[in-house]
Amino acid sequence: MTAIAEHPALPEVLKFLRGSKKLLIGGAWTDAASGKTFPTTDPATGATLTEVAHGQAEDIDRAVGAARAAFDTGPWPTMKPNQRERLLWRVGDILSERAAEFGQLEALDNGKSAGIATAVDVAWSADVFRYYAGWATKIEGSTVNVSMPFSPGREFHAYTLREPVGVCGLIVPWNFPLLMAAWKLAPALAAGNTVILKPAEQTPLTALLLGEVFQEAGFPPGVVNIVTGFGDAGAALSGHVDVDKIAFTGSTEVGKKIVDAAKGNLKKVSLELGGKSANVVYADADFDLAVEGSLNAWLFNHGQCCVAGTRLYVEDNIFDDFTGAVAAAASKVKIGPGMDPSTELGPLISQEQFDKVTGYLRDGLADGARALTGGKRWGESGYFVEPTVFVDVKPEFSVVREEIFGPVVAALPFDADNGVVAAANNSIYGLAAGIWTKDISKAHRTAKKLRAGSVWINQYNGFDTAMPFGGYKQSGWGRELGASAIDLYTQIKSVNIAL
Ligand code: NAP
Ligand code: MG
Repeated sequence: MTAIAEHPALPEVLKFLRGSKKLLIGGAWTDAASGKTFPTTDPATGATLTEVAHGQAEDIDRAVGAARAAFDTGPWPTMKPNQRERLLWRVGDILSERAAEFGQLEALDNGKSAGIATAVDVAWSADVFRYYAGWATKIEGSTVNVSMPFSPGREFHAYTLREPVGVCGLIVPWNFPLLMAAWKLAPALAAGNTVILKPAEQTPLTALLLGEVFQEAGFPPGVVNIVTGFGDAGAALSGHVDVDKIAFTGSTEVGKKIVDAAKGNLKKVSLELGGKSANVVYADADFDLAVEGSLNAWLFNHGQCCVAGTRLYVEDNIFDDFTGAVAAAASKVKIGPGMDPSTELGPLISQEQFDKVTGYLRDGLADGARALTGGKRWGESGYFVEPTVFVDVKPEFSVVREEIFGPVVAALPFDADNGVVAAANNSIYGLAAGIWTKDISKAHRTAKKLRAGSVWINQYNGFDTAMPFGGYKQSGWGRELGASAIDLYTQIKSVNIAL
């Protein structure tokens, strides 16, 4: 039984679930070459929601062929920038119009709250399409005042062209299925690329619904291709010699495989990978604001965030009070299925993640950590885990070092004399960090020393479409969002004319 049994879904959502879910290749919905499908499940109950076409290497090859043709001979790359702008803006508008439908579908497939999915994932995705719609008309080269020292006495006119990279493979994870797709699709398309999107096996549905939106908006065939499937489809895409670029969000482990697979034709690669982000609370912070913000830092999306602030460093003289307050707030969070409007914390995505996260809970306790709250599964069915606050941890514990991707935080004290920066930077990752203090100089000094791609002060998850986002160290290559994403999906040609 799925969560729909108790919390009815919109008629459009039920219709979509009943319909056939095929691959979008060259503008047409087609079955997988093998004819096979695979089930996608409702994490609140583990029941099958619907079946989806099982795309594999042969389907990826067809999709790459369609994207290649659309790039090399189709109308897309030569279409006027303001025409691409209008199409992308239209996608944003349709997403806004159909926000509730997308939100419910995301909640059913991923387990997150339908309300949060609608207000955050879908609304932000619409904003991302509109932001990059605006960029389509603002991608520019420059004129260069060359000196040409080996050609004295001659005159030159030199300039650069900023051109699309070509055929881009976009591989996304299950934690923000629609949003991660939007972060990649919007800048890639604004810049004139054609794409093949490979959603995560656990959450293929909103990508397919988005495929309908691209068709409704009027994108030419082959510009956006969508192949649902498993890791082997992602591997086929990242190894394909006709693909010019891979943009990937997911685990650091798979990120390294993509780097290997990209070697064949040295395709461009951008990576958004894992994290184990430090959230630093100084004793002079606004206590209540920091408690609430720190809770959001590690618990948002059930802890299934690459930026989750799961190493909580608290100044020693407030450590017990602060961690006690965070644990008390965590124990009051309302757990349930995403389709229940009162739910604040939903299930983990899958049995695999549930086993992984509960394994970390066992390891933490076995190592000697103490759970101020939580420490075990919640309920008897579905992939629910109690929010867990670990104290009495040491830096070498796996719960401090490794990305758990569940509602688990490890809290460590620091003293003002020795500072916190060395401990906070002691990680293979460097995606994000939080700082809580009323001392503005201390905040800026700490921000400068932290080795992380995003630093949020007196807030956490302080994202904006215009702010570049990406990782230091093993958290990734390149920056998504903002103007930086245009760099990811364009390349520069230098043209130099002897007059
Ligand atoms: P993952 O394996 O890295 O999956 C991300 C995407 O890569 C999915 O679309 C996946 O397809 C695809 N993929 C898998 N193997 C591939 C390969 N060899 N070549 C190309 N693409 C491939 O992540 P996961 O297994 O779902 O989650 C594992 C862990 O990764 C989590 O516990 C978490 O720690 C981390 N994670 C991080 C993020 C993040 O935002 N940084 C997001 C998700 C997970 P399939 O889904 O079909 O396998
Ligand atoms: Mg699912």
